[in-house]
Amino acid sequence: MEDTIFMKIIRREIPAEIVYEDADTIAFLDVKPTAPGHTLVVPKKPVQNIFDADDETLAAVMRTVRKISPAVRDAVGAHGVHINSNHGEAAGQIVFHLHFHIIPRHSRDEFRFWPQNDYLKGDAATIAEKIRIGIK
Ligand code: 5GP
Repeated sequence: MEDTIFMKIIRREIPAEIVYEDADTIAFLDVKPTAPGHTLVVPKKPVQNIFDADDETLAAVMRTVRKISPAVRDAVGAHGVHINSNHGEAAGQIVFHLHFHIIPRHSRDEFRFWPQNDYLKGDAATIAEKIRIGIK
């Protein structure tokens, strides 16, 4: 896997506001926050995204997401957090080193979710069956 900016942060080659670190993960402020306190949780093991990550790496990252989310929320007086993760260029992934965004959310902030739609008749069953067949 190509070296990424996050590996440079892990190795302390470039500065970052690191808020938490353990043997397997590190968490630091996003340099361009969606909201103040926006934090990234990253495994130290260089995996790209959900498509090449192993269970142990994902479990370690999610443990850290769970551990630090209350502190992220409370540090900025937020009311909740949005936990987001982009996997693949089409999904908006820019840094190809697995990471989860913890974004503080306030009751009256401006964020809007994507619009939701209805399935055409039969489409849900067809797609669900393709997913069931594709699970390895
Ligand atoms: P992605 O779109 O890949 O999910 O998001 C990558 C995130 O990494 C972006 O929100 C971006 O602001 C953040 N980021 C990119 N380069 C750096 C950096 O050098 N330092 C920090 N702290 N965050 C970065």
